[in-house]
Amino acid sequence: MRSIGLYLHIPFCRRKCLYCDFCSFPGRTGDYQRYLEALKQELRLRWNPQWQVATIYIGGGTPTVLPPSALAELLREIKTVARVQPQAEVTVEANPGTIDGPGLAQLRAAGVNRLSVGAQSGDDRFLKILGRIHTTADVESTVALARRAGFTNINLDLIYGLPGETLDDWQQTLRWAIALAPDHLSCYGLQVEPGTPLQSMVREGRVRLPTDDEVSAMFMANTRILPAAGYKQYEISNFARRPRAGEAASGDYRCRHNLIYWRYQDYLGLGLAAVSTVAGHRWVNLDNLEAYLSAVAAGTEPTGMVEPLTPRQAMAEMLILGFRLTTGPDPEAFASRWGVSLAQVLGERVQPLLDGGFLREAAGTYRLTPRGMLVSNQVLTKLLAPLL
Ligand code: SF4
Repeated sequence: MRSIGLYLHIPFCRRKCLYCDFCSFPGRTGDYQRYLEALKQELRLRWNPQWQVATIYIGGGTPTVLPPSALAELLREIKTVARVQPQAEVTVEANPGTIDGPGLAQLRAAGVNRLSVGAQSGDDRFLKILGRIHTTADVESTVALARRAGFTNINLDLIYGLPGETLDDWQQTLRWAIALAPDHLSCYGLQVEPGTPLQSMVREGRVRLPTDDEVSAMFMANTRILPAAGYKQYEISNFARRPRAGEAASGDYRCRHNLIYWRYQDYLGLGLAAVSTVAGHRWVNLDNLEAYLSAVAAGTEPTGMVEPLTPRQAMAEMLILGFRLTTGPDPEAFASRWGVSLAQVLGERVQPLLDGGFLREAAGTYRLTPRGMLVSNQVLTKLLAPLL
């Protein structure tokens, strides 16, 4: 049996946010039903009885623009077609303002045991600049309703480095988020993606981005403020809360689905533009909605591109992802996959990075220090030069 993570992409949103280059369309409510049927059909086409599902992640887009009953039905179908582990982590991304209390209760009853809420900022000024459809009050009420519906594992997604944002503003967002007592926090730096309205706003000087130094200070604030509030950093941008007094010490709120990516394990992506990597094979689904729907309706796998992965590329990817984790790449998993040790592959390039305080050595592997995380691209470019 091969354990996999299952990702399902819902490419619909109420409105397009100004910074977004994800595969998502505003409106198109008329396509919802056809798309859901196609997702179920794609699962039937691709499913291999040698697999078992360890995690399910329904992301987007905004999955919660779909009726909760449709998401529940999708989960039922997955469990009918696929072998899903009884303790599987089942996450749904929810955007505030798109789901109410009864809807959340319906998701919980359907087996969703982790809710990832797209909060983004604790300041309504920035939500407006980003073109989000919701306010901070909507985030607060979604979290409260989710707790009432029985969710005990809630993530908040946040973005720092927003136009006009100061270090104080960001720290205020962190404090606001902590007060909502989520079980997990994802804090990503804003990326200005080509072709987005935000890029034009920046280019035309209509908004001003924080400097690199200011953004670095915001990142460092994450590594200081969140651990002090009981959240352990386990990945460059991700923090999971430690068990509280009286709670089982085994409580682990790290995102098991994302750990599959960072550990370079197998995942199957279903839906528009979804990526899969299984047993060293990588493919990307079609990203045109009509082409995707037609391919699946014709009973063919909707593969848009097969990405050949040389062993060298795969080894580099495994290390790049592994270094995102605060524990570093797993030396045993690495050696058993490639038949060489981590130390052999990294060679003499490690020492200057250890000396410079960018890496540290622990438990038979290497880890980025906070300083190394700030400039992780440069550190990894040096470290993995022969593989890139
Ligand atoms: S809600 Fe998310 S996926 Fe949808 S437009 Fe906004 S950022 Fe993009």
